[in-house]
Amino acid sequence: MLSLDEFAKKWKIDPAPLKTVAGRYPFKLNPYFEGLIRNKDDALWKQAIPDAREISDLSGFEDPLSEEGLSPVPDLVHRYPNRVLWLVSNRCALHCRFCTRKRRWAGDGSPENPVDLKPALDYIARHEQIVDVLLSGGDPLLLPEERLHEILRKLREIEHVQIIRIGSRVPCALPGAITPRLATMLAKFHPLFINIHFNHPAEVTAQSAQACSILANAGIPLGSQTVLLRGVNDSETLLAQLFHKLLSIRVRPYYLMQMDLTAGTAHFRTPVSTGLKLLRMLRNRISGPAMPHFVIDLPGGRGKVPLLPNTVREINDKEMIVQNYTGESCVYPLLDGEDEALRVELANR
Ligand SMILES: *Cc1c(COP(=O)(O)O)cnc(C)c1O
Repeated sequence: MLSLDEFAKKWKIDPAPLKTVAGRYPFKLNPYFEGLIRNKDDALWKQAIPDAREISDLSGFEDPLSEEGLSPVPDLVHRYPNRVLWLVSNRCALHCRFCTRKRRWAGDGSPENPVDLKPALDYIARHEQIVDVLLSGGDPLLLPEERLHEILRKLREIEHVQIIRIGSRVPCALPGAITPRLATMLAKFHPLFINIHFNHPAEVTAQSAQACSILANAGIPLGSQTVLLRGVNDSETLLAQLFHKLLSIRVRPYYLMQMDLTAGTAHFRTPVSTGLKLLRMLRNRISGPAMPHFVIDLPGGRGKVPLLPNTVREINDKEMIVQNYTGESCVYPLLDGEDEALRVELANR
């Protein structure tokens, strides 16, 4: 890992203002990700380097998704009936400045939070409706391999757990940590899925492609989650490149996420209309499987809602007028009496 002083010296900047911010939200950056930064204040820089606005912005919430309130036992978020989110680590390959779980970051030199596995495992075992377990953190793929193996093995001992998913930034942000040995271990626990956090086309490198290849070759379906970030990736061209590049390294774009209302991250947030506009511009211009869902994770842990740009211009008793991807108004004929039910379904569009 790079210290803030080393980073400031290399980039010839004054470390003092950064240190004030890092005192509240610790700085963490590994040499690989640092090596992707081309210029001061570029898209990679903005994701990783502390910014004074993180501590001057007084809007937002420490825990915008009420994950603590939705945790029946520590580190286990049970929001939807059939699946749980288990925060098995508080370590990451870097500290993304817009992180939703800044509140959980481990400070410099603090020991790995020794999450006690038993309460979460007991809870999952006691609730038969839980068929899908998402491991996140922090980053599960940075856990010592034996520890991750133990977690997966114990989950697989619970009969009703059918799906295991891992959320990770490692294949993108520290790809050298993805080894064939790790992939072979993970492949023992199929059906296992990995969702990788990628935000910018410059993060798709030969190294990250290699990491994804190792995982995909182990039969692990790969998806991506991208956070829509002001000044980082809020452009049609960048997102088109990112999603196409991801598909070409066998990563299927899954979610494009509206920024959560996390404290000290307002400078990254885009208007909701930006996400919708980008989605409208991308639809049909990039391959269907390269299109993610645009979702807002509702405040208070109310769940993720997908939003779609409105394409319906008019509904009458004979036909519906929709706008296609080139902006042309097109007619689709309706069945007799269908219009009322259709208006109900599209009520809020
Ligand atoms: C995002 C999330 C999930 C998983 O949602 P999917 O739409 O199934 O990917 C589950 N639990 C929590 C608490 C989440 O935030």
